[in-house]
Amino acid sequence: MTIRTRFAPSPTGPLHLGHAFAALVAFDMAQAAGGRFLLRIEDIDQSRARPQWEAQIYDDLHWLGLDWPTPVLRQSDNMKSYAEAIDILWTNGLLYPCHCNRRDIAAAASAPQEGTPVTGPDGIVYPGTCRPATPPAGPVPSGCALRLDMARALARTGPVGFDETGAGPDGETGRIATDPATALSAIGDIVIARRDMGTSYHLAVVVDDAAQGITHVTRGSDLFSATPIHVLLQRLLGLPTPVYHHHRLIRDETGKRLAKRDDARAIAAYRAAGLAPGDIRNMVGL
Ligand code: GLU
Repeated sequence: MTIRTRFAPSPTGPLHLGHAFAALVAFDMAQAAGGRFLLRIEDIDQSRARPQWEAQIYDDLHWLGLDWPTPVLRQSDNMKSYAEAIDILWTNGLLYPCHCNRRDIAAAASAPQEGTPVTGPDGIVYPGTCRPATPPAGPVPSGCALRLDMARALARTGPVGFDETGAGPDGETGRIATDPATALSAIGDIVIARRDMGTSYHLAVVVDDAAQGITHVTRGSDLFSATPIHVLLQRLLGLPTPVYHHHRLIRDETGKRLAKRDDARAIAAYRAAGLAPGDIRNMVGL
């Protein structure tokens, strides 16, 4: 098998040391195995994506010594694929429209009968306010969010699992299984299509990893808790599950994860200061 890895940045700010590390991990893994490294521009959030950041991503990555096949998959060019995936989930009775805003969800989740609100990969686990007793009929609705009916989804898939060759935040590695009871209580009915986007990070990443034939997903351990969602969606959509390799996060001297707006640690700033690509590798411990 020829392995394929990817780096999937969002063009919403400058790439910093954390991005350089993520990109190099993916690139090095592909190189070491004689495989391919692919790039993907994750720009579904069009309110924050900017062409100049996309141009800077290409420039910084080339400077770091990376190359990749073109054309690059840009998510905003791929909305039709997400709509097709939504159609499949909708037709299978796995989605329902949701009209709640954040405030409604926080209020419903903290109602006395609900106990303490549980926080999942996407914030408070949805208390189910809009969930219908039977799957909605008719065409896919627009102008609202669409949520996954987790109980129905799990009834189709049963337990889901994946192979982890890196580690989650608590050192989780090897075969990682998520049992249905945990998925229900700790993840719940996640948003598959946001009202303002027509998709979500989770759906887009799953559709795109399959479209790009990614065999090994390398990414930060902050996304480890989202992986069961991705594996579940792969099963529901009949897509292959790649191997996952979650890596450490690059932190500042106070132990805080680098933020998007950390201009002082932007690759562009180090370049301007005269550092070489090898210096960046050293700084991130590669
Ligand atoms: N676009 C995501 C980010 O910038 C990465 C998604 C992924 O690697 O699955 O954090």
